[in-house]
Parts: sequence; structure tokens; C-alpha cells
Amino acid sequence: MDRYRIKLNQKLNLEKDFDPNDLGDWGGKKNEGVAKLADLHLELDQLQEVLYAEHKHKVLIVLQGMDTAGKDGTIRSVFDGVNPQGVNVSSFKVPTAIEMDHDFLWRVHDQVPGKGELVIFNRSHYEQVLVVRVHNLEPESDWRKHYQQINDFERLLTETGTIILKFFLHIDRDEQKNRLLERLDTPEKHWKFNPADLVERNVWPEYIKAYQEAISATSTDYAPWYVIPSNHNWYRNLLISNFVVDELKKLNMQYPPEAENLDQYRKQLEGE
Ligand code: AMP
Ligand code: MG
Repeated sequence: MDRYRIKLNQKLNLEKDFDPNDLGDWGGKKNEGVAKLADLHLELDQLQEVLYAEHKHKVLIVLQGMDTAGKDGTIRSVFDGVNPQGVNVSSFKVPTAIEMDHDFLWRVHDQVPGKGELVIFNRSHYEQVLVVRVHNLEPESDWRKHYQQINDFERLLTETGTIILKFFLHIDRDEQKNRLLERLDTPEKHWKFNPADLVERNVWPEYIKAYQEAISATSTDYAPWYVIPSNHNWYRNLLISNFVVDELKKLNMQYPPEAENLDQYRKQLEGE
């Protein structure tokens, strides 16, 4: 994953330096990759159970990407099979009137994981330096301050026991066209087609610019960004699953200590 990790203030050129078709060391090995993904599902399920039982660490996964980049698909695939207890998905939409009356982190802080929980953000506080910037919803003097505010917020979370993993799902504009056409061509996917996506597609370069700057300004050592090549769904899922499993393993999680003298209770029950 190191090759996909971004350093703080690193100069980014997403379209030139990051190939969304990249398959790492897995080129030509799709079948193996898909088989490995099944193993990772099992591992993730077991790790999440200990995370929940231990009630110590908090895990926050942030997913960002252009429309059709695969945020929903990643959630469906990577977390396939995990116990919904202790796992939560928060999708951030256009803020409501009440949310608008508060600072942009108000609704976000409310959704962060507690002890033992794993939370996935489907979009996030980063929209405040993406869509807000691209569509001039705030003056630059306001949104520019959000980089530091985000870094401070994420530092607070990590200093109080949260692990933050941030993934930018990187597709190119041609792939987006294919995916939008697929939505139009498949009746079961019509509901996913949002005409507004075409408006966003028309300002693709502005989004790329906003993403580059946001990722670079907020890829701190305590909450770094990973740029995930995402034209191939299976590779995207494999990378993210593998990484999440590795990070959870590093926590060295343990089941809580058992009650003393379990034998005594067994005898008590057997003697009933
Ligand atoms: P979707 O993820 O396709 O359901 O769309 C959610 C929409 O909400 C996207 O168009 C986002 O850009 C938009 N959105 C999310 N957060 C914000 C925000 N803070 N300000 C304005 N729009 C937002
Ligand atoms: Mg959408």
C-alpha cells in the first residue's frame, strides 16, 4: 500500500502520476485476486468481532471519489459478511437546513465511531473542500480554512483512540462515461442514474484540482490518504480489504478477560 500513500503537502498530479488502471503486482491474476478477497472477507469478519468484543479501538474509514467511482460497491464488497453489529455506514448528503446552521464538522463528529465500532463514511467532511469549492458554495477565504480545521479534527480523533483510513477511489473520465452508460442500459441500475451527475462530470477538471489540493493538504502522518486505482473493481476491493485487514491486525486486539473459575459455572449448569 505504500506506493499509494500520499505525503503531507506532496505535489499531486492525479491524472498524470496515478494510473486508475494500475493492477500493482496482480496484473493477469484476477482469479487469484478474487479468491484472495474471499479469504480476506473471513479475516475481516473475525477481526471485527474482536474489535467489537475488546471495546477499545475505534476505526473510521473515509471513502471519497467522483460519482460512479465505486464508493457504494466498495462498501458492499469489502464489508460483505461482517456482523452489522458494531459496523455503521454514514452517507453524507447535501446538508439539511439545521446542519447548515452549524459548523461543517457538527454532523460529522456525531457519526464518528465509538469504542469497538467500525464506521465507514460514504462521502465525508471532505465535501466541504470539494463540492463546496467547485460550486462556490462558500468564499475561498472560508473553505481554505477547512484544511487546517480538518487536520485538527482528525488529530483529536486519532489522539483519542481512532484509527483513520482515507481512500480516494481513482477512476478516469472515460471509465465514468462507461459506468454512467451502464446505469442507463441496465433497468435495475436506472435508480442510480442521477442527471445531476452529468453536471458534475462537466466540471471534472475542477474536481480533480480540488481533490489534489485537499488530499495533499490533509494527508497527515496520523491520517494519511491512499489513492486507490479504481477502474477495476476487483483490484480496488482487494487493495482496500487487504489494507483494512493489515491495519486491524496491527492493533493486536484481544478478547476481554474471561470470568474466573469458568469450570465452577460449568459444574453448576451440568448439575441442574
Ligand atoms: P450521493 O453520494 O450520490 O448520494 O450524493 C450526495 C450529494 O451530496 C453529492 O452530490 C455531494 O456532493 C452532496 N454533498 C455532500 N456533502 C455536501 C456538503 N457539505 N455540501 C454540499 N453538498 C454536499
Ligand atoms: Mg451520486
